[in-house]
Amino acid sequence: LLRAVGVRKSYGHTEVLGGIDLAVHKGQVVCLLGPSGAGKSTFLRCINHLETIDAGQIWVDGEPIGFRQRGGKLYELREREVARQRRDIGMVFQRFNLFAHRTALENVVEGPIRVLGLKPDDAHKQGLELLDRVGLAHRADAYPAQLSGGQQQRVAIARSLAMKPKLMLFDEPTSALDPELVGEVLEVMSTLAGEGMTMVVVTHEMSFAAEAADEVVFLADGAVVETGPPSEVLSAPKHDRTRQFLARIL
Ligand code: ATP
Ligand code: MG
Repeated sequence: LLRAVGVRKSYGHTEVLGGIDLAVHKGQVVCLLGPSGAGKSTFLRCINHLETIDAGQIWVDGEPIGFRQRGGKLYELREREVARQRRDIGMVFQRFNLFAHRTALENVVEGPIRVLGLKPDDAHKQGLELLDRVGLAHRADAYPAQLSGGQQQRVAIARSLAMKPKLMLFDEPTSALDPELVGEVLEVMSTLAGEGMTMVVVTHEMSFAAEAADEVVFLADGAVVETGPPSEVLSAPKHDRTRQFLARIL
């Protein structure tokens, strides 16, 4: 479902991604690990074309991101068409980015009504179901400020799911949370994984990676150092760089 080949990205003279290859099959969960500055967030931002890449190619569900393929040639897409591609890719950040002046339910129904053109009644029905899935149906009318960080992040996940994405990207979704709130968000993510959602998750939560990931990818200095099932990469890493990193965070 997601395929990245030779993805390179520089800011000025600084190369941040030095040729990343990654394949994620439908229904798979891939966890990205790596030290600060490794390029994890940059790579996620490239996947949904928030950053343009300098070389390589990224395909999501057969479509080259940012381009249209016609007669064996690639043509750059306009912003409107990029927005259409981006709709299929949900993204959840460290900071929840909810609309502060809208309730939980209003946050969830905004995209479906405005972008997908759902009727408000249908969007509200779907929105309540999604809030129920993340355990927050009873807080549908609460404003973000009235919710805990963990609850806000769960609303943010529901809001992403409302767009019916094919792929979900998570960038350290629990690292801004108080420790006691981390579990409830990871639980929602595990459930989602169990339901077959295709996910790429940047996280330092090793227990989540160990349990939910089909594949773990260790990135350092903009390159894939090591990749494999969690039982290998986390329990028996082959590279010193991976060992050092794991020793520091476990
Ligand atoms: P962290 O674990 O701290 O979130 P990361 O692996 O997500 O790190 P990135 O945020 O992708 O790392 O950053 C990789 C490198 O790219 C860093 O050296 C960062 O300073 C640089 N960088 C990121 N965004 C920009 C930008 N917009 N302009 C210039 N440099 C940038
Ligand atoms: Mg980051």
